[in-house]
Amino acid sequence: MKERRRIVVKVGTSTLTYDTGKINLKRLEQLVRVLADLMNMGLEVILVSSGAIGVGVGKLGLTEKPSDTRQKQALAAIGQASLMSIYEKYFKEYGYNTGQVLLTKFVLEDEQRYVSAKNAFETMIEYRVIPIVNENDVISTYEIEFGDNDTLSAYVANLVDADLLVILSDIDGFYDGNPNEKGSKLIPVIEEITEDIRRCAGGVGTRRGTGGMQTKLHAAELVLPNGIDMIIANGDAPDKLYEIVEGKSVGTLFVSKAI
Ligand code: ADP
Repeated sequence: MKERRRIVVKVGTSTLTYDTGKINLKRLEQLVRVLADLMNMGLEVILVSSGAIGVGVGKLGLTEKPSDTRQKQALAAIGQASLMSIYEKYFKEYGYNTGQVLLTKFVLEDEQRYVSAKNAFETMIEYRVIPIVNENDVISTYEIEFGDNDTLSAYVANLVDADLLVILSDIDGFYDGNPNEKGSKLIPVIEEITEDIRRCAGGVGTRRGTGGMQTKLHAAELVLPNGIDMIIANGDAPDKLYEIVEGKSVGTLFVSKAI
């Protein structure tokens, strides 16, 4: 197995927020503790985090997350800085600084900006700072409408030449059918994204998440050709990340082909 040293961890809205739409502080704190500990072990961690809208919902005291793009964009702006300050507070408690990176897909498609972003990431990693990445929702409808950061996390994994992309979701991994239906089973290892696999990802995501498995499969297709493995695991137990870096079987592993 390839050494899992540089790891991009993506955490979804469904993991970071309660049904009320507000942020799940307990989960977030557990996640930060484990990520800081992985840094202590000498690993390099880059976090891609959703949740800004959830924090915005909490700040304004709304009773639920709005579905209108315009309102979501405003709430993302209202929540982003607070989300970062929560991360900063927790990471600081465990001895680490963070750096905020707001990206759009289109920024990364421009060569010059791609190089700038890459340099900023590399420098933060050298400083042993944890980059925390989110889509720049205010100027981009992409994530809010389609992606829920799955695609973005794949772009980031490619940009920093990660060893592994871990997508933490509200489900144990990728199932061979609708996970709500009896008889559906978790697939521990996927060597190839076949048409059958694609059909399994047919269902939409949860109410709070957005992309479901389709955007996660797309993320896999983006990183696997570059020699980056991808794992989908349940974000309800961030301690599983220890097992993941040790190479134990957790969730669903998508095996890269380039090695
Ligand atoms: P997140 O915010 O973590 O990205 P999503 O709601 O977007 O969460 O995606 C996870 C959801 O995808 C699961 O809760 C499940 O309902 C749905 N899903 C659809 N097809 C599958 C499948 N084949 N295996 C697992 N989950 C699936």
